[in-house]
Amino acid sequence: MKSCFCGSDQPFSKCCSPVIKGAANAASAEKLMRSRYSAYVVGDVDYLIASILSSERHSLIRSEIVEWAKSNSWKSLEIIKADTFTVEFKAHFRDRSGRLQVHHEKSTFVYEAGNWFYKDGVFNDDISN
Ligand SMILES: [Zn+2]
Repeated sequence: MKSCFCGSDQPFSKCCSPVIKGAANAASAEKLMRSRYSAYVVGDVDYLIASILSSERHSLIRSEIVEWAKSNSWKSLEIIKADTFTVEFKAHFRDRSGRLQVHHEKSTFVYEAGNWFYKDGVFNDDISN
């Protein structure tokens, strides 16, 4: 049994897939974050947009999300630290020229109307602890 793209010990069909398909709500900010990573892997741009807090969606450009999801080959997700509203993670991927890269982000999530949403994040060098 293959484990989910997000690195959990559950299969994709029981882990991130139901969240991406809307059959289940993410139980925590970390779960939502994991499902968004898996959505990058499978290229589900609709879900990537739908899981962003509606008030933050104005700033995003769909074509950029498509480009970012599809031009990279997503390798693995590493959760560094997760609490109720924030998740720090490293997403490992290979860029279009084949170089291994790490996207290091500390994301903030909001719980609204029974669902978790991605709000925003700080990236790489801007993360301080
Ligand atoms: Zn998963």
